Amino acid sequence: MRTAPVTKIIEHSVVDGPGNRAAIFLQGCNFNCAYCHNPETIDPSARPESLSVLTAEQVVERVAGAVPFIRGLTISGGECMLHAPFVYDVCSLAKQRFGAEFSCLLDSNGSLPFDLVLPVIDGVLLDVKAAGESTHEALTGAPLDPVLASVTVLARAGKLIEVRTVVTGDGEEAFRCIELVCCRIREAAGADAVGRTGYKLIRYRPKGVRKEYLRNLKVPAAPSMERAVEHARQCGFNPVTAV
Ligand code: SF4
Repeated sequence: MRTAPVTKIIEHSVVDGPGNRAAIFLQGCNFNCAYCHNPETIDPSARPESLSVLTAEQVVERVAGAVPFIRGLTISGGECMLHAPFVYDVCSLAKQRFGAEFSCLLDSNGSLPFDLVLPVIDGVLLDVKAAGESTHEALTGAPLDPVLASVTVLARAGKLIEVRTVVTGDGEEAFRCIELVCCRIREAAGADAVGRTGYKLIRYRPKGVRKEYLRNLKVPAAPSMERAVEHARQCGFNPVTAV
């Protein structure tokens, strides 16, 4: 029976995808983002007190109590796709038990292939953290290309629900991300596909960020956020949200 290290299960969340949903957080991430708010979730071998190693059946059982009041579940991290077979098991079991309409979403950094899980998920909330290869490497410690490949695969499959970018400083990098993702979606699935994809712009906040990274990160001013939001709207993303 496949298991995964689960750091937290929230039975009712309104911030992990559309509507009221259960959110399941898994330990371990293959990125090391400078602005990570939950750096304690990065180390795959860490075993914080709150962590339980659970089977997919146990996770679905926990979610079952909330099912009359939620429309689906979202699996997050860390990076949930480090546990792709487990993600597959949770989503396929949830659909068997609660019906095909019960939506299963992933919150992912997009660095790992989705092939295994695509048949059992409804979509992905995908982080695109920078538009330049070297900027992406410097910010996350990981290459950008696999993330862009995921944009293409998910857009073609009609499973790119929302793209998320953290806006820092003057907002220029976020501006470039919006443009790049827009082009990728158009190439992969046509201009209409952009209008079926949401874009969430997340204002960088220093709370929870490791001390050594604080100096190089700046909170964006309101006009930088507004400009990014306006640009995402002009590109045709729908809906565009800022938090
Ligand atoms: S991808 Fe998310 S969990 Fe992983 S290091 Fe970056 S912000 Fe943290």
